[in-house]
Formats: sequence, structure tokens, C-alpha cells
Amino acid sequence: MTTTPSKLVDTDRGRFPEFSSEKRYEMLIGDDWVSSTTGETFRCFDPFDDVEWGYFPVAGEREVAEAVAAARTAFKSWSTTRATERAAILMRWADLIRENVELLARLQVHENGKTITEMRGASGALPATAEYFAQLALGPVGLTIEPGMPRHEAWTLRQPLGVVAAIAPWNNPLGLLSWKLFPALAAGNTVVVKPSEVTPASTLLLARLGREAGLPPGTINVVTGAGSTGAALVDSPGIDKIAFTGSTATGARIAQSAAPRFLRTTLELGGKGAQIVFPDADLDAATSSLVHGMVAGTGQACNAGSRLLVHDDVYGDVVELLRGKLADVKIGDPLDPSSLVGPVASRAQYEKVTGYLDIARAEGCELLFGGRRSEEIDGIQSGRFVEPTLYATPNPSSRIRREEIFGPVGGVIRFRDDDEAMKIANETTYGLVAGLWTRDLSRAHRLARQLESGVVWINTWRAFSTNVPFGGVKSSGLGREIGPDALHEYTETKSIWLGL
Ligand code: NAD
Repeated sequence: MTTTPSKLVDTDRGRFPEFSSEKRYEMLIGDDWVSSTTGETFRCFDPFDDVEWGYFPVAGEREVAEAVAAARTAFKSWSTTRATERAAILMRWADLIRENVELLARLQVHENGKTITEMRGASGALPATAEYFAQLALGPVGLTIEPGMPRHEAWTLRQPLGVVAAIAPWNNPLGLLSWKLFPALAAGNTVVVKPSEVTPASTLLLARLGREAGLPPGTINVVTGAGSTGAALVDSPGIDKIAFTGSTATGARIAQSAAPRFLRTTLELGGKGAQIVFPDADLDAATSSLVHGMVAGTGQACNAGSRLLVHDDVYGDVVELLRGKLADVKIGDPLDPSSLVGPVASRAQYEKVTGYLDIARAEGCELLFGGRRSEEIDGIQSGRFVEPTLYATPNPSSRIRREEIFGPVGGVIRFRDDDEAMKIANETTYGLVAGLWTRDLSRAHRLARQLESGVVWINTWRAFSTNVPFGGVKSSGLGREIGPDALHEYTETKSIWLGL
């Protein structure tokens, strides 16, 4: 067992002067920036120093109904607006986002405590995503089909669905929202967004830029609030599609609400990614990637690789390499570009992650590295920090091994051969991402097919492109976001026959 401390970065205060004047925020319904009719608000706190920095309206059923009605009204004209015009507005939005990338990145760091490096990357990708969907909007909207019947012609039309409820989590607020917002609007739908209660301000700023770019009133609406606001939106009779990213538990509730109405859903849910290391791998590259995959974003990523499957022959070497690299991970102020691990985003999440450290102790998991929380980490005077932590998790029923922790905590599991690796990798109910480290390409191809996972990375981790689909299987969700078919998630095919 080791408790070698990770390197710590000094803390710093007074960090967001650009946001200090704005405290009371309003949400966007139709053409208006409004408060809640009840006057009820909720507060946001910076996870680094726990400073309360903003008040937001709680949207109740009334505000949600108004937002859905505004979107319904706007749908009539937006769905018949020429694709070239919709694309031009998305392109202008992309330009405005590009001008404000740093502001959007810093605002998200203020909200969720993710590192500035990660949030710059996520914000920097937004314009390309908007432009990608602007281009797709200009593509074909149907097929002409030879029906094989005399004196008949047939063709298809892909038409927008109507009002899309887009519900996002806090861990990558704008990136994950952009995968819903841009395709939905590009295809001619209108949208009611419900951002996470941890990260509402960045979404409001993104929507403001969209209105400045020329989105007509009601095409984008933002209602703020916690789960009850989300539930009111999901249960609203006026919506036609739910695009959700968040936990599997909330996704299941949403699926239950949607089922009797046969509503279309895209559900991007939790994960428990396996990173699998074979003896022929480049162990130095693999272990660097394993550490990054496990702790980057403070492990608060659906695509975290929190199960580290290591072949028996290299287990000892890999664990030693992991310990060394975990000791080099910088924990500290998320505004410091050298920090890889910042604070955990919210009090509730901190309780959850540290609760798993207690569970690991109670389960008797062997601690291989870390295990300390804020008050125990030298040099950390503020925030809710959890040290990158690695356990040995040989017991398949261990909760550390089975459950999504959503923090910088991972478990190492030994395997003896390919079959056992696949058995362990697929033992989880989740199926979002998985990775293979091997130089044997025939093994890589074979096992990539066997992994029950929406995404497989071979000798890499967390490679992303707007051109490549993303999504899960099993309890990691339904449907795919981004990629060439993503507009199909926001359109329905109509077949039209003509008798000649
Ligand atoms: P969460 O499910 O608690 O909340 C997500 C969103 O749903 C928030 O906006 C929340 O207010 C809202 N919500 C809560 N209850 C609701 C209800 N009953 N009806 C409608 N909306 C409701 O998840 P979270 O803690 O914000 O995010 C973390 C989770 O998201 C993790 O499980 C993570 O794996 C998952 N996630 C998945 C992906 C992916 O692409 N698959 C990406 C990022 C995060």
C-alpha cells in the first residue's frame, strides 16, 4: 500500500472578475428574459472556493409550459425556413462562439470546477460542431426510390419532429448540449433546454449568442431549475422528442415517462469504461493513457476508464508505472493550466465520491494509490478535492468495481487470457466506452467486435470528432449523437407515393 502524495498547486483567489457584476440571472422564454413567477431561486457555488456566485430562477410547471408553447409557435415558421437560412444562422452562431470561447470556458470552470484546459478544449470544439450541422442541414432530405410497381413513383422526406426537450448534465455542459442543440435546430426543430442546476449560466450565455446570431424568438428557450424542472419538461404534453444526457437512473425515469406517448428519445447515460492492457502493449504509453482516462476531468466523465484490466504477465509492472504516473498528477486550482485534477463539482458529488472511499475501506479493497480527501491533502486549503485513487478490485461483486463513481477513482483487475478479459469487460451493466492496448492488430479487431460498448478505442483513449458517432449500449443509453447520421435522431421519414 502507498499513500505517496500527488503534486499540489497553490490555490489562488479573486479568480473571475469578469463575472463579478452578474449575480441574478434570468432564463429565456420566447423573446423574453424572465424570472420565475413564484420568485423562487436557486444558487450556484464555485466548487474551488465554495463562493456563492449566482441566483437563478426555478422554472415551475407554468414556466415550462410557456417555454414549450413558445417553441411550438416558433416551430411553425422555423420548420419551413429554408435550410440555407438555418445553416447561415448556425454559421453566425459559430462565429460568435469563436469570439467568446475563452469566456465560455472560464464560465464553465467557475460553475463546475473542471480544469481550464479541458473546458477550453470543450468550448473550442463548439464552433466546429455548429458548422458541421450547418453543413448537414444543406444535405439531402430524402430519397427517390424505384418502387417496383407499375405507374407509381415513391420518394421519402425527412421532416423535423417538432419541439425537442434537451436536458444536459454539469460535467461538460456546453459540449454535450451542443450535440443536441445544433442538430435539432439544423433539422428545423425548436428546442427547450434544461441545463443542470450546477451549470446554468454557460447555457444561458450560449443561448444569448444564438439569439444574437439570428435565431428567431422561441426557437431556443432555456428553463432553469433542478430535477423537478426537468421532470416538468419531460412530462409536458407539448414536446415531441427528449434528448437527454445524465445518469442512468434519471434516464430510466425519462424513458418511463416517454413510453406511453411513444416519444422519440436519445439517452446518453452512465459508464464504467474498461481500459484493457495486454502484455504486448507499449506499457509506457498505455499507463499514461490509463491514468489520463481515469482521472482527467477529475474522473467526472461518462467516458472515464475507471476499470483497469491488466494481463497477469505485466500486472506488477503496470501497477508500478501507474503509481509513478499518479504521483505526477497535479491537483489544484482548475484555472491553472497544469492542473489535471480540480475540485469535485458539487457538494452532493463530493459526498458521493468520498462515500465510495468509505465503501472501498469497508469492502476491504487493497489501496494501491491515493485515498485522501480535501482536509487530508497537503497544500489544499479550499474546495472539495479527492486525490486520484487506485484500488485492486479482484472481487466481481465489489461496488467499487461495479458502480459508476464519477470521480478520480479506479480499480485494477487481473486477467489471464482474451476470453477472461472479455468476460470481465462485459460483466458491467454499462456499455459506453472501452479501450484495448495491444500491438496485435488481429486481436484488436477481434476483441473490438466482442466488447459490449458503443465506442472502442484501440491504443488511444478519448479520441473524439464531430464526424464520428458517440453513444452507448445496455444501460449506457439509446441512440447516437454527432456523426453523419445524427440529424436522423431529429427527423422522421415520410414515404410519399404518386400514382401516375
Ligand atoms: P443527473 O441524471 O442527475 O442530471 C442530469 C440532468 O437531468 C440535470 O439537468 C438534472 O437537473 C436533470 N434531471 C434530474 N432529474 C430529472 C428528472 N426526473 N427528469 C428530468 N430531468 C431530470 O446526472 P448528472 O449528475 O448531472 O450527470 C452525471 C451523469 O451523467 C453520470 O452518470 C454520467 O455518466 C452521465 N453522463 C453521460 C454522458 C454520455 O454521453 N453518455 C456524458 C456525460 C455525463
